[in-house]
Amino acid sequence: MNNTLEKTTLERDAKDIWKVCLGIIKENVPFITYNTWFLPIKPFEIENNTLKIYVPNNFFIEWIEEHYNTLINKTITQVLGSEGKLAYVILDEKEDSASPIHAESTAVTASANINVVAPPKPKDFESYLNPRYTFENFIKGEGNQLARAAAVAVGDNPGQTSFNPLFVYGGVGLGKTHLIHAIGNRILEKDPAKRVIYLSSDVFTVEFVEAIQNDRVNEFSGFYKSMDVLIIDDIQFLIGKEKTQDLFFQIFNILHQSAKQIILSSDKAPKDLKGLNERLISRFSWGLSADIQPPDFETRIAILKNKSSSYGISLSNDILEYIAYNITSNIRELEGCLIKLLANSSLNSKEIDFDLVKRTVKEVSTNKQVNISIDFITKIVCEYFKVEENKVREKNRRKEVVLARQVAMYLSKHLTKSSLKTIGLHFGGRDHSTVIHAQSSIEQMIKEDTIMEETVLSLKNKIELGAA
Ligand code: ADP
Ligand code: MG
Repeated sequence: MNNTLEKTTLERDAKDIWKVCLGIIKENVPFITYNTWFLPIKPFEIENNTLKIYVPNNFFIEWIEEHYNTLINKTITQVLGSEGKLAYVILDEKEDSASPIHAESTAVTASANINVVAPPKPKDFESYLNPRYTFENFIKGEGNQLARAAAVAVGDNPGQTSFNPLFVYGGVGLGKTHLIHAIGNRILEKDPAKRVIYLSSDVFTVEFVEAIQNDRVNEFSGFYKSMDVLIIDDIQFLIGKEKTQDLFFQIFNILHQSAKQIILSSDKAPKDLKGLNERLISRFSWGLSADIQPPDFETRIAILKNKSSSYGISLSNDILEYIAYNITSNIRELEGCLIKLLANSSLNSKEIDFDLVKRTVKEVSTNKQVNISIDFITKIVCEYFKVEENKVREKNRRKEVVLARQVAMYLSKHLTKSSLKTIGLHFGGRDHSTVIHAQSSIEQMIKEDTIMEETVLSLKNKIELGAA
């Protein structure tokens, strides 16, 4: 009873405080930006000077932090004092109300100057599943029919089908990551007690290396062996990492023997993963390998319609068809195009007209879309600055090391779709605010110094060429 009372006061306070913040923000950003990005945010509660707010998804957080980090920080300091902090709580999209009752099912993430506040967790670890990726919002099409059907079957009966492992492969931006998250989300929806974990194979590698350094390999492998469902994305990044492959092989065997579900994704079919240990390749073909092909025209239209309405924009059929005709290879590009349209129109307070659409399509479709790993970026950058790769992952503060580290972080943000958190993890487990800081430092340098600008540009080209 007491608890409820307390909670209500906390909510009310949060509402009042957020209202004041909104007032300040409104005066400092264009109207459309305010409407698009700030109005959908709902206050949740205030706790020890930390204001927690609900945002619809991760994309919101990254967008706001990239464009309005300074404003947000200033506003929070102004309203809550210098100790004031802000935390984002991601709303599960399936819950359409922002009621704090659902707080348990949300993930919490943090803004630049804040401590992360963890939501109450029933388990002792985080699943790293993005609630945004569900079967419900995964559009069916010819190109993904088999993979989707198999994914649903596994989601409904993990470990009980012959699809173990389920191996989903295909080109960049075609929905592999979305689909394998959706499986995990479905499994937890049916049974929240299931131990489900998602990670990409390069995070697995980084954690493994850390475990070796800290003499905790047993603990590390024990943790993954304790899972009911292990989901590993972009398994191709294990190529060339013999030790990691060996350990993964052990974990795979233990899980498979006890009918635990394994779900993998890759940019190529198992047999084409040259450089991956043969015994792993043969294990991968024990279950089902399903590919995802680029979407056909109808599917592209369906995806565009669905996504634009979820971003709250409505586009004419002409515009939808124009985009679908011109962006053909990749769903991420379709989505990128919509996001760019939305961002451009809201930043410049402009309507979405055909002119803007044409320009945006051109921008998006000339963007190279290749699978670039953070490790590869680090390698090229370190070669250029003549810095040893492990130095940028350590706590080294030498000037040239700091610069190489910041440039590598900056390029990782621009050339991969890794989250700030993942990027931080790759550079010796640094916090995501460090990555934001690196980004703004490099942006500043590029503005002020043409040599720096050229250096970064040529590194970018080199990386894109090397990865292509
Ligand atoms: P991949 O892992 O294959 O590179 P992603 O899963 O990251 O691709 O997909 C890129 C983007 O496109 C994601 O935002 C995802 O939600 C979206 N997407 C991909 N396929 C579909 C689909 N069939 N329906 C809806 N959205 C999709
Ligand atoms: Mg992916």
